[in-house]
Amino acid sequence: MPTGTPISTARSPAPEKDAAPASTPAAMAWRLDIAVQTPAHAALGDLLSYASAAPLAPGTLVRVPLGRREVLGVVWNDPSSLEGAEPDMALKPVGAALDALAPLGEAWRDLVAFAARYYQRSIGEIALAALPPQLRDLSTTQLARRLKRKTTTGPVAETAEAANLIALSPEQTAALARIEAETGTFLLVGSTGSGKTEVYLRCVADLLAGDAGAQALVMVPEINLTPQLEVRFKARFGDDAVVSLHSGMTNPQRLASWLAAHSGAARIVLGTRMAVFASMPGLKLIVVDEEHDPSYKQQEGARYSARDLAVWRGQREGAKVILGSATPSLESWHQSRPAEGEDPGGRYVRLAMPSRIGAGELPAVRLVDMNLQPPKTVLSGALLDAIGQRIARGEQSMVFLNRRGYAPVLACADCGWKSECPHCSAYRVFHKIDRTLRCHHCSFTERVPRACPSCGNPDIAPVGRGTERLEEHLAELFAGVTRPGGSAVPEPVRIARIDADSTKKQGALESQLAAVHSGEVDVLVGTQMIAKGHDFRRITLVAAVNPDGALFSSDFRAPERLFSLLMQSAGRAGRDAAYLAAQGATAEMWIQTHHAQHPLFAALRKHDYAAFARQQLEERAAAGMPPFAFQALLRADARTQEAAQAFLNAASAAADALEGADRVVRYPAVPLAIQRVANVERAQMLIESPSRTALQRLLAAWQPLLHALRRTPEGKGVIRWLVDVDPHSI
Ligand code: ADP
Ligand code: ZN
Ligand code: ZN
Repeated sequence: MPTGTPISTARSPAPEKDAAPASTPAAMAWRLDIAVQTPAHAALGDLLSYASAAPLAPGTLVRVPLGRREVLGVVWNDPSSLEGAEPDMALKPVGAALDALAPLGEAWRDLVAFAARYYQRSIGEIALAALPPQLRDLSTTQLARRLKRKTTTGPVAETAEAANLIALSPEQTAALARIEAETGTFLLVGSTGSGKTEVYLRCVADLLAGDAGAQALVMVPEINLTPQLEVRFKARFGDDAVVSLHSGMTNPQRLASWLAAHSGAARIVLGTRMAVFASMPGLKLIVVDEEHDPSYKQQEGARYSARDLAVWRGQREGAKVILGSATPSLESWHQSRPAEGEDPGGRYVRLAMPSRIGAGELPAVRLVDMNLQPPKTVLSGALLDAIGQRIARGEQSMVFLNRRGYAPVLACADCGWKSECPHCSAYRVFHKIDRTLRCHHCSFTERVPRACPSCGNPDIAPVGRGTERLEEHLAELFAGVTRPGGSAVPEPVRIARIDADSTKKQGALESQLAAVHSGEVDVLVGTQMIAKGHDFRRITLVAAVNPDGALFSSDFRAPERLFSLLMQSAGRAGRDAAYLAAQGATAEMWIQTHHAQHPLFAALRKHDYAAFARQQLEERAAAGMPPFAFQALLRADARTQEAAQAFLNAASAAADALEGADRVVRYPAVPLAIQRVANVERAQMLIESPSRTALQRLLAAWQPLLHALRRTPEGKGVIRWLVDVDPHSI
């Protein structure tokens, strides 16, 4: 095992004022293996060894010298005695132990070690990334002061709202009964508005009531998009019992939440994917809401799936896991299949809640065949009429287009110039609001040129359409239309847009959503941000105006993502049956497409997720794709595409010699769909096996070869490489 010494080129840093007095080497009777965040690809191995006067328990946080710095580390294994051994002068002494804090538990360390192994990263990287950043900077006295601050705990009583609890539906009751009675992982398949959240709340309530030390972890894809959930949990359990953990918090907030979870004071942790690593000594229940959502997969650094880790963690700690979705991932759906013939079935318990509560029927789906529309039609006449009728009745409509900006390309008709990004193999998007051309990949931004930069033609025109242009278009179309106002005078139609651009400012999203909820908006335009989760009450029409792109994508998961996005969007319409009845309205989902015959739409029309899943799984089984096979990507970034591919191909050749290599297919290296970003060329190689174990073995044995290869001529010009296990997009 490497020690802390070889890379420490200079003297140890001056000890902190409040650090324990430096012991003499003679007193250093113990050797500790410590996880620290080693520089990426330093090939230092997982743990570094240090000498210590005290046999610190595994899980203790310590400060240790590393190079010129002093860093935070976690004691990983049981200390081994140096008594009687040759004094190992190479071992550096550990610094101060943050022993005011209870050591991180064995279960937590197992989770980190598993994640490191499975996703091919170092333990130190995962462990340190899982801890709140501020822990790295606090001295032991500062930490002690933090810990003294009052953290409320005590019995969690359900609060007033809970006192007049709504009666559960039969489906909710049945789901709850099985979760209570059985153990393991549950897949709760419930339509949008079927009351899944209510089931989570009840499970948590039952758990906390029955066990004074129990804790629950509730994960959501993006906390900003589900502010209502936090409100509901706090209303039900009180502000003190619930803490949040997500990247939108300040470092002090994150530390406070983390400490509350670690001490057991917080009974419920509500968070995004990072929360899967929260230290929770009393963990008994994990909820993963919208389990299919791609944002559970971390896309940089350690590319872990928080959903998959949640399932592993639940199993390790004997905690129940509830995965909830209206459109589960095909992996989870497959894993919850009932036994049939030879097939013993999946490991998850599938629970179905098909009916909507207090909401109308799921909206009627209307397909508009765009081939039958006049050329260049953006919004068909029938759709415009339908939106117009809603405006006249004072109802809301939502128009969904998954592309922000005004137009994806600006082009010159004379010479063929297009607004390419000079640094990426992609076009820069035209944003009319501030008259810029912006690259959505590298952020390179310029003012829109007055004339074609290539031939001087002053007539450069936007091509295609983003949400900004759609908003403008709708405003023009409805300019002459008025809506019934509260006053005697009819008011002009109000159109709002919600996307990543309109919500950059802190609090902007909240205020824009509030405006929709309070009825100040007639037509809402937006990207997938508006499709997720929101409990809009007055929306009776949802339209997807151009969803075709995903139908023929090279990524085999694109149809799955599209289907769930469209089902989610549809779920925003007609959420309040009483409102629909009072309005005499029916909810509708409109889809404009050039491929009206596509089976995806046939399933969508019937809101038939099962039919869609069956068809997709048949295709995947036939093609030997996940969940029937396991994949990883090896990716290389380099100055040239040749260098990136040469590295990958050399890596593949090197893998031939590894044991079990014949059970793992390695495809040829190919450029990424967007092959150059910020002047870096990117290539990847798909690795696939019907056996997860075979894939894992190969990846583990491959790591040292990859590190070594980096230092050979084939590794020249390679800026970085990475392994993505269970990649989301290919
Ligand atoms: P989901 O999470 O499945 O989309 P929610 O749990 O948000 O559904 O429930 C949708 C709406 O129905 C919410 O306003 C919720 O308060 C309400 N609701 C849930 N369960 C019941 C019930 N048993 N009786 C009446 N209303 C309910
Ligand atoms: Zn030109
Ligand atoms: Zn760019």
